[in-house]
Amino acid sequence: MTTDQIHIREVGLRDGLQMVSTFLSTEQKLEWCRRMRAAGCTEIEVTSFVPAHIVAQFADAADVARGALAIEGLKASALVPNLKGAQRAFETGLQQVHYVLSASNEHNLKNVRRSTAESVEDFRRIVKFRDESGQRSTALSAGVATAFGCTVAGRVDESAVLDLVSQLLECGADEIAIADTVGYANPAQVRRLMRNVLSLTGDKPVICHFHDTRGLGLANVTAALDVGIRRFDSSLGGLGGCPFAPNATGNINTEDTVFLMESQGLKTGIDIDALLDIRKTLTEWLPNEPFTGAIARAGLPKTCAV
Ligand code: ZN
Repeated sequence: MTTDQIHIREVGLRDGLQMVSTFLSTEQKLEWCRRMRAAGCTEIEVTSFVPAHIVAQFADAADVARGALAIEGLKASALVPNLKGAQRAFETGLQQVHYVLSASNEHNLKNVRRSTAESVEDFRRIVKFRDESGQRSTALSAGVATAFGCTVAGRVDESAVLDLVSQLLECGADEIAIADTVGYANPAQVRRLMRNVLSLTGDKPVICHFHDTRGLGLANVTAALDVGIRRFDSSLGGLGGCPFAPNATGNINTEDTVFLMESQGLKTGIDIDALLDIRKTLTEWLPNEPFTGAIARAGLPKTCAV
């Protein structure tokens, strides 16, 4: 059954910042989190537990995670690349941990130097470790990246994506994320794949992660809404790019996504004006980064009472 309630998870602090060379301080990251929570956002992917020598921006991952956990009413989560990262994340007591593998074996090899099948086994070990170490309060989300196509392999077989979803559920995933990592998806493809994903997931939450690399981000959100998806990742100001497409825009923009929802009567609980204020601060902190967004440019229409 579908509802009018939409869950927006802010991923700018992770997907956005991983592309940014300017360092934000731990306090700036936490100010961003606190202000997002005050704006009504209840879910934030606050950092990534990748080794600092790979992405130096996340050297303060544990401090950001602990600081975010102190924010009342916030479900704080983090990305982990492997068991070691997951162990570090579990130590902080985060409410949710995200693990991502690629539907494209070629992309997975390039990204984490393991086959997709090996990554599934890695996820199984993470679930086992969590369960045996008494960390069951931390939900484990499993994501399938390059689910709509891949810059390395090109076309990605839909049945391979569905097979991975089944395997991740069987491993014990508490949530399934489906990601268009490189911005290849189109609305017809989204409707078809997400309908099939939902036929496998039962009561488990399913979240879509779209990039606006080729301008179809919000069209793909609408397609996912049509088939019953109510959870979306987005990034404030559309911060972040695509490592495989220089100059391309990154994640779908949080302000515009909230506007898309609220303008048609769907409820996000998020105040767009407050988002625009936070965005202003971010553009001051990161003056060299490209920010996207139609609402920031044009303002809200008079007919929209959000
Ligand atoms: Zn992404």
